[in-house]
Amino acid sequence: VENNFIISAVMTIFSKDRVLFDYQSILIYGKDLTDVLPPPHALCVVFPQDKNELVSLVHFANEHRLSLVPSGGRTGYSGGAVAKQNDIIVSFEKMNHIVDFNAADKTLHCEAGVTLKAIQDYAKQLDLFYPVDFASAAECQIGGNIATNAGGLHVIRYGSTRQWVMGLTVITGRGDILGCNKGLVKNATGYDFRHLFIGSEGTLGFITHAILKLTALPKKTKVILFSVSNNQAITILLSVLQQAVSLIAFEFFCHTAMQCVMQAEQIAFPFQKNTDFYGLFEYESDDTVDLIIEKILQDQLNKNNISEILMSHHEKEANHLWRYRKGISRSLKKYFPYKFDLAVLPSTIFSFMRAAADLLRNKYAALETVWFGHVGDGNLHVNVLKPETVSEKDFAVRCAEISETIYAVIQHFNGSICAEHGVGLLKKPYLHYSKSDSEIQYMRGIKNIFDPNHVMNPGKLI
Ligand SMILES: Cc1cc2nc3c(=O)[nH]c(=O)nc-3n(C[C@H](O)[C@H](O)[C@H](O)COP(=O)(O)OP(=O)(O)OC[C@H]3O[C@@H](n4cnc5c(N)ncnc54)[C@H](O)[C@@H]3O)c2cc1C
Repeated sequence: VENNFIISAVMTIFSKDRVLFDYQSILIYGKDLTDVLPPPHALCVVFPQDKNELVSLVHFANEHRLSLVPSGGRTGYSGGAVAKQNDIIVSFEKMNHIVDFNAADKTLHCEAGVTLKAIQDYAKQLDLFYPVDFASAAECQIGGNIATNAGGLHVIRYGSTRQWVMGLTVITGRGDILGCNKGLVKNATGYDFRHLFIGSEGTLGFITHAILKLTALPKKTKVILFSVSNNQAITILLSVLQQAVSLIAFEFFCHTAMQCVMQAEQIAFPFQKNTDFYGLFEYESDDTVDLIIEKILQDQLNKNNISEILMSHHEKEANHLWRYRKGISRSLKKYFPYKFDLAVLPSTIFSFMRAAADLLRNKYAALETVWFGHVGDGNLHVNVLKPETVSEKDFAVRCAEISETIYAVIQHFNGSICAEHGVGLLKKPYLHYSKSDSEIQYMRGIKNIFDPNHVMNPGKLI
């Protein structure tokens, strides 16, 4: 179809000020934070304001076999929101309103383009809590969170985004509007399409609205940053703590991550002595729990599992300690990292870490890797940094080779090649390490039902 025809048709759906064609806008709205993919291309970017405009766009795309790429906050790490030649990018930036709060049900109804931070702040102002949290909260959108089933720092206690979605309004790739679950707590009427759209990465349709559950704010919390000389000490502490108290977060990171974050955030090394690994945990504090934690930490210090400990005494200190963990992802950006987002059963995380570390040390000793992650959920982020002397192209080839090796280990552990960032374009060639051929066939079948002409984010996920 002629580009001019498409563009004039799109202009009849959206007002002129809500369609952009310039390459700068395509560069902004047509890509996420994935570094190793080629630059985006697209026909234009559109900014819908309501679902009827989207229905018209989806019908038009079906008629002329065009492809539509949902674009949220573009903080993804798997190329899910990356556009290619002749795509139309659909940004949710203007659908950014909180529609309603139902006090009796403690549910919030919002448009897909509301940022995660806006939802967290709204809940807090009601003395409630939206527990999904991670370092891109101010930029990422709830639509993107739902489309990737985002995890983050509190999964150990509160679960991933899926646990908090009580209802969704979606527009399928056929152009039908579906109201999935509508906020009900109980609903046993067969297939729950809400759960198909959670984690669907824009491949079945657009998420336009969500109903989210809020919960009670945790009482006073405390944050503890600690250092250890080996990663086994981290998993030992995790296991001891989990038997005694309910943790809100339990994270770990390596010394290189510590160095990167200190440099990027301009913050001082918090301990007396360097160690190989550091950890951070947060818990809901009261006198009884504080005593239990104190005893456990003293015991771990006596056994030389832990080297040093820092504890927050108020919110400001807690936020400061969190900077050492939350700053890692952004601090690595300048090293052009290739990101692995791996998951195994929490009970096997230590054996997996040992197997992956041995493999990387033996086969790829020349490449620097940075380790961190949500170790309490069995989720490990291994970042391979590009050596300055290696070209981007050669680095991508190298990373593809490493992927095959690491994912074979993941398969052996019955783990997942994507814990929380989604498959997108980047991890698509490796999906078979986590999903069987028949599972992938069923996924294709589902795609064909919701989006028979493959207008929705084609080429991503499957
Ligand atoms: C510093 C930093 C820290 C991070 N930490 C974490 C973390 O701890 N846990 C975690 O899970 N992620 C983390 N991420 C990754 C990222 O922020 C999440 O994946 C986030 O959920 C993506 O949301 P987004 O709005 O930016 O989506 P985008 O990147 O814009 O899109 C992601 C996918 O969702 C689709 N999509 C977007 N909006 C819609 C919609 N309305 N309807 C249908 N499909 C849609 C896109 O097409 C794409 O496939 C981090 C990123 C950064 C930069």
